[in-house]
Amino acid sequence: MSDKNKRSNVAVFVPHNGCPHMCSFCNQRSITGQQYQPTPQDVKDAALTALKTMGEFSKDSEIAFFGGSFTAIDRDYMVSLLKAAYEFHDVFKGVRISTRPDCIDEEVLDLLKSYNVTAIELGAQSMDDQVLSANNRGHSAEQVEKASKLIKENGFSLGLQMMTGLYKSTLEKDMETALKIAALQPDTVRIYPTVIMKNTALGDLYLGGEYKPYSFEDTVKLCSDMLKLFMERNIKVIRLGLHYSEELLRDRLAGAYHPAFREICESRCFLENIKAAFDGRENLDIRTLPDGKTFIKRKKVLINVAKGSVSKAVGQSGANKKYIFEKGYIPVFKEDENLKDFDVKIQILE
Ligand code: SF4
Repeated sequence: MSDKNKRSNVAVFVPHNGCPHMCSFCNQRSITGQQYQPTPQDVKDAALTALKTMGEFSKDSEIAFFGGSFTAIDRDYMVSLLKAAYEFHDVFKGVRISTRPDCIDEEVLDLLKSYNVTAIELGAQSMDDQVLSANNRGHSAEQVEKASKLIKENGFSLGLQMMTGLYKSTLEKDMETALKIAALQPDTVRIYPTVIMKNTALGDLYLGGEYKPYSFEDTVKLCSDMLKLFMERNIKVIRLGLHYSEELLRDRLAGAYHPAFREICESRCFLENIKAAFDGRENLDIRTLPDGKTFIKRKKVLINVAKGSVSKAVGQSGANKKYIFEKGYIPVFKEDENLKDFDVKIQILE
């Protein structure tokens, strides 16, 4: 549980001990029974601790039960956690939960509503039935669609989570999944590139040579394209890439992981627009020195980007800046409040 800053959520991890499913990427089975099950008192303590630092900002924050199977856990236990959270219904914006698409129906939605749950995230992972089946998800793409519609019809904020690079998926199938998810018009999306962990079915397939993850570069390109797709449709991508954890670093076998994965994808989006802006504008002002050596007389260029985007536009380790330099320019990055997202406007100074 954490209350990282004044506007962050009160996060309560609810593990699904004894989960009957066997998702290929999940290592919860190997640690079943060893994970701490939070009690109602833990929920209250977390909320009270958060309130001390949040003060009036609590109205912008939610109590978030994450773990992916909230409506699939023991019903009495689930209600006991919701009751504990409900004691704070007048000080927090609402309650957020994450669950499986096959664990949503009218009855549970009514129950969630009565305890001030306002946002529901579904682990869709893929919208391709073959991929879902190959990864033992235990639900279909149709169930994701049905649950999503039901959640929206009942007035909840809808979040959809997807994974890239699952077993039997392809770059094309993943992009198709993103398009199908966008068509469901969720309020938020989380994109998780698959990370292969020890003691999982995927881990065994990987070690046996049956499954090869995408390269880091391919994953960055794919996720950058998805980021643009969702942003163009005004769907907030609230997470891109797995959170850092010691367990992740310790048990990771392969798969795209970087603590700054989102920033890498955003920088890539900028690079594409920078390339387009410099297309056909290479500075060919080559001068010759008295000794016969040549050099490029570089021109200064203003690179205008949206507010707060300069470091992403510069790129990881200055990669985008270097690209512009190689085109014969000295880039000067500048914020322009009229620009948005990954817009790039260049102005060559003579
Ligand atoms: S990821 Fe799959 S196997 Fe793991 S807890 Fe969730 S539903 Fe169960």
